[in-house]
Amino acid sequence: MDHFLYQGGALHAEDVPVAEIAAAVGTPFYVYSTATLERHYRLFDEALAGMEHLVCYAMKAASNIAILKTLARLGAGMDVVSGGEYLRARAAGVPGERIVFSGVGKTRDEMRLALEGGIRQFNVESEPEMEALSEVAISLGLRAPITVRVNPDVDAKTHAKIATGKSENKFGIPISRAREVYAHAARLPGLEVIGIDVHIGSQLTDLEPFRLAYQKLADLTHVLRRDGHDIRRLDLGGGLGIPYTSGNEAPPLPSQYGAMIREVLGDLDCEIEIEPGRLIAGNAGLMVSEIIYVKSGEGRDFLILDGAMNDLIRPAMYDAWHDIIPVVQPEPGAEQRPYDIVGPVCESGDTFARQRMMPQLSPGDLVAFRSAGAYGAVMASEYNTRPLIPEVLVNGQEFAIIRARPTFDEILNRDTIPEWL
Ligand SMILES: *Cc1c(COP(=O)(O)O)cnc(C)c1O
Repeated sequence: MDHFLYQGGALHAEDVPVAEIAAAVGTPFYVYSTATLERHYRLFDEALAGMEHLVCYAMKAASNIAILKTLARLGAGMDVVSGGEYLRARAAGVPGERIVFSGVGKTRDEMRLALEGGIRQFNVESEPEMEALSEVAISLGLRAPITVRVNPDVDAKTHAKIATGKSENKFGIPISRAREVYAHAARLPGLEVIGIDVHIGSQLTDLEPFRLAYQKLADLTHVLRRDGHDIRRLDLGGGLGIPYTSGNEAPPLPSQYGAMIREVLGDLDCEIEIEPGRLIAGNAGLMVSEIIYVKSGEGRDFLILDGAMNDLIRPAMYDAWHDIIPVVQPEPGAEQRPYDIVGPVCESGDTFARQRMMPQLSPGDLVAFRSAGAYGAVMASEYNTRPLIPEVLVNGQEFAIIRARPTFDEILNRDTIPEWL
């Protein structure tokens, strides 16, 4: 459920007409709903009620500081994967003890930044990383709290580019080597082993891969405790999928996910952490774009938008489907026809949808891409020297620009000409 609905024939973001935002900020732009962000965070928080837990929003999904602050003020922790994300989380007012640092290639500079600023834990992904972290911590006179990310070798049954829990993926250490690796960690004086971490992939639409992975985690908890490790926190990663079509696809609900967690891990006396990203932000955002031209090709018609693959790369990168809806509600029973919906970038990959049934549309009409809140703005680039598009946050009847569109001067001035030219 989200808060982007037609009211009186016009698409609204909560109580604000989307067309009103378009008139104020220009197209294309992203718009997020505070109520949807809050609702999704609370669904996870409530799903784990009764167990000691922290919901750490995986901020790589959508990392605008205003979005982070919206969640942080409800008590959310953050899962960060870079020094830059760590600084964003801190700028949003998130205390270090609610920030978890994930990622397969943390640099020593990033480790130092987080250790000095305060950190809940590092999710460590390899033995070389363990050694580096121990050294950095010792140099600061600290001990770094860690979990080790284990790769449980389960098939997440999702798109290959976002599956992370099979043995051929680069993530974590093989679960079969966990005892050795934990023994190694325990010998490193700069580390404090506190738990285990797992994250098997993104956009999972079935609970079974999670259940399999979490059962392996439960078994491993017993084994590692027998080996003398103080396993008191289990980080279960993110990955719960969202419905991208208004059709029949229905991923499990956070409540079902939470019930499964309680069933598999509830009696281990461990604090539970989860790292949802997509499910919190995905359906909380739209990308809104204007039709520049309607072009008739041979046997097919094209809607050419002012938004492009550099603004929303998911269709080009993951073959992703986004529902695309007109901002002016079509009359009931209005005739539909197929369009190829494309952007202006000079490659054929800049195609959002092929032969998509849409009502008759004209240049100047606005369309909205649904479920664009996660892995949308954060993956945008300035390819073709197209400025990064603005982000807007709606809250009831109010809206605010939370990232302005850069001017061309700002973009051009980032380049510098060497003296010899
Ligand atoms: C990407 C990622 C997440 C979030 O995944 P979603 O599918 O957006 O929920 C959580 N944890 C880690 C380690 C990740 O890399």
